Amino acid sequence: MKRVLIVGAGPAGAALAHILASRGVPVHLLERQRDFSREFRGEGFQPSGQDVLRQMGLGARFDALPSVRMEGISIWRGARRLVRVEVPEEARDDVVRIVSQPALLEMLVEEAGRFPHFRLERGVAVRDVVREGGRVVGVRVEREGYGEELRADFVIGTDGRNSVLRRKADLHEERTPQSFDMLWCKVPVPTFWRPGEAEINVRVGGVCLAFPSYDGMLQLGWSMRKGSFKQLRGKGVEAWMEELSRAVRPELGAHVLAHRDRVSHPFLLDVICDRLVRWTAPGLLLIGDAAHPMSPVGGQGVNVALRDALVAANHLLPVLAADGSPEALDAAAARVQAERLPEVSDIQAIQTRQARFLVGTGLLPRLMLEALPLLGKLGLMRTWAVRGDRRFRGVLRPLRLAV
Ligand SMILES: Cc1cc2nc3c(=O)[nH]c(=O)nc-3n(C[C@H](O)[C@H](O)[C@H](O)COP(=O)(O)OP(=O)(O)OC[C@H]3O[C@@H](n4cnc5c(N)ncnc54)[C@H](O)[C@@H]3O)c2cc1C
Repeated sequence: MKRVLIVGAGPAGAALAHILASRGVPVHLLERQRDFSREFRGEGFQPSGQDVLRQMGLGARFDALPSVRMEGISIWRGARRLVRVEVPEEARDDVVRIVSQPALLEMLVEEAGRFPHFRLERGVAVRDVVREGGRVVGVRVEREGYGEELRADFVIGTDGRNSVLRRKADLHEERTPQSFDMLWCKVPVPTFWRPGEAEINVRVGGVCLAFPSYDGMLQLGWSMRKGSFKQLRGKGVEAWMEELSRAVRPELGAHVLAHRDRVSHPFLLDVICDRLVRWTAPGLLLIGDAAHPMSPVGGQGVNVALRDALVAANHLLPVLAADGSPEALDAAAARVQAERLPEVSDIQAIQTRQARFLVGTGLLPRLMLEALPLLGKLGLMRTWAVRGDRRFRGVLRPLRLAV
């Protein structure tokens, strides 16, 4: 059986490590953080991501994690609600869930830890790849200030959007320029909030999302022109909270201001959306955000990362288990990219199109925004709100864990 090194215990790395270890592959998983809550990542689980965990046999454990089900969504412009869409009773098992990421990752590594060939090391940062004869044969790590080389038969990079492995292996990306950043923060859930309800507040050139999180707080996601937060931050928390309160409907804005001293987890997401031309080098495969950082539009990143992990397991496991040659491993890795690229490209294309409308400032987005109240009156916003989600579902390829 070949040995695998996985760099990064986010959703992609932890899920892949679990599947491989559960099938007897010796897996060494490296994570730079000691505590999963130190890394801020998405909490929105689409049915597509939930399905991967169920196929891994972890459905019951997933259901037991701290989470909130999203059962309705409203679109607001200023004080006016343009539309409200509710998930019908019979479809409530198939909704987006907001799930604690630290709890999810702890669950995945705990489950993986039941298998004798799994080893997780926290607090170990990978600094470089180790090459021999043009092939990646391991990684150079920093552990408690000391450098060390770790070797394996195959290396998998799941080290996220600022991947070190991507850079050190000289893998190049195709970038779709993004015009916006997102400021994420949490405030207490208002008493007037309908449980399980998400909101999109639209304005010229941006949106502000609001949805209850698993921790009893209301998550806000405020889009703004790329790079503009630097100036705003310079004016202090008071100033940006004022600005944020104007980006949501008045009742919510007043709540935000009343709780400005309780705002938590502020995090500026520099939005990027790109894809590596090649996800592989000899001896190395990148998946998840390391191969294709996703835009936040539609909350797809965690789900796509989990789906990558499942496909990577399907292709790599038979070769690892059969003690396949380095060339056979590289060929299996290339098949992972071939299978995943069409879905990832389609999702990123939808995200880019939707972002043009949601955060664009051109004539067309402005006209659309002006037309929203009329579309709402005619009942057409309902179709639009639902179609946005259906578009993402429509490009998903069938996926089965086959190993
Ligand atoms: C603020 C925010 C909100 C988001 N909202 C959503 C959402 O609602 N729904 C959704 O689906 N997606 C969302 N996303 C995107 C989602 O979080 C990512 O797409 C997803 O986490 C990617 O998973 P991953 O496993 O590929 O990478 P990550 O989750 O980024 O995990 C990478 C891991 O690698 C570790 N690591 C990095 N470098 C090293 C190194 N050198 N050595 C060792 N370890 C390393 C990191 O500590 C991290 O744990 C959001 C992202 C952010 C930042």
